Amino acid sequence: MNKFQETIRFVRESFNTSKFIPLHEPRFRGNEKKYLNDTIDSTFVSSVGAYVDKFEEMMQQITATSKAVAVVNGTSGIQVALRLVGVKAGDEVLTQALTFVATANAIAYNAAHPVFLDVDRDTMGLSPTAVSNFLEEFGELREDGCYNKRTGNRIAACLPMHTFGFPVRIDELVVVCKKWGIPLVEDAAESLGSEFHGKPTGSFGDIGVFSFNGNKIATCGGGGAIVSSSLSLGEKAKYLTTTAKKPHPFEYYHDELGYNFRMPNLNAALACAQLEQLDCFLSEKRKLAEEYDHFFKAQDIKFRTERPNTKANYWLMCVELEDRMERDSFLKETNDSKVMTRPIWQLLYKLPMYKSCIRDEQQNAEFLEERIVNIPSSVK
Ligand SMILES: *Cc1c(COP(=O)(O)O)cnc(C)c1O
Repeated sequence: MNKFQETIRFVRESFNTSKFIPLHEPRFRGNEKKYLNDTIDSTFVSSVGAYVDKFEEMMQQITATSKAVAVVNGTSGIQVALRLVGVKAGDEVLTQALTFVATANAIAYNAAHPVFLDVDRDTMGLSPTAVSNFLEEFGELREDGCYNKRTGNRIAACLPMHTFGFPVRIDELVVVCKKWGIPLVEDAAESLGSEFHGKPTGSFGDIGVFSFNGNKIATCGGGGAIVSSSLSLGEKAKYLTTTAKKPHPFEYYHDELGYNFRMPNLNAALACAQLEQLDCFLSEKRKLAEEYDHFFKAQDIKFRTERPNTKANYWLMCVELEDRMERDSFLKETNDSKVMTRPIWQLLYKLPMYKSCIRDEQQNAEFLEERIVNIPSSVK
């Protein structure tokens, strides 16, 4: 029962505290208070303001895309992104079951159906092989897109997720999606700052979406960003998330059902201050990951590191335990000692609202579900 005392001691020493150690805490060490005060002094606290513009410019730069749009949260961003690439009621969207529930919820908000395909063991993200196999078996190219010939539904999008900031095989997914004429949206909620072959995650698909929730690598309380390398998709995203209002000096005219998904200037102020520190957050996390890697090697516990040719942001770091029993004792021992650790998500088809969704065999997802545990990952 004292198998993991060394781990607990190491984490305590590393974070230099005898108090409770959370999984991930935000750090506000930059211009946060200054920028927040600016918004109040200017009276522009709501959805129009200089920090919203500045945040969008910064995100466009960081992700090397043509347009970034600030939104209320990542979930709403994904919801709109799917609609923008043409997802409609009754369509199917290919995604992974090993993800946070928001990924599938964003599909369901469009009255579309998630199709859960397996992940790769090493990336923990959607497997291009699983997607390709599924499409070879069930896909049918028709004039207006790809259809599932078993269900008769259109396969309207593919939505991979970069798990904990480790990039998926996005280059291969791009190829498979192109072959089958399926738009690609990246749930990059967890991967701000991550790169695949030197290119930022979120910039490979038709659209990418980031989250700035309180537990992410950079936060603005609550918020998100939609990015696209297509200027027209980006502009459409801005339009739809700001009530679909036609520009006019004084008239209100809205020509389709838009959303009020705008990020308030207050939150954008916080987001700008956080983005200014992103490089610093990334290098601090990299340092911690190196320390963990070194320590866990000596313990004979598998610590997850970035794959070759990728850069992970190390948002949430994790270990892979031997089996479920080992995982459960790790979870119990660490949490009993006030070192917060959490298992990876339960596979989404085990949740009541997604239990009847189409899925393939989920060997890798099931394997990881039983073994992966997140460990304290905050910037120190
Ligand atoms: C955090 C997260 C989201 C949603 O972001 P919110 O800003 O909290 O709505 C979506 N997908 C994944 C994988 C996430 O981790």
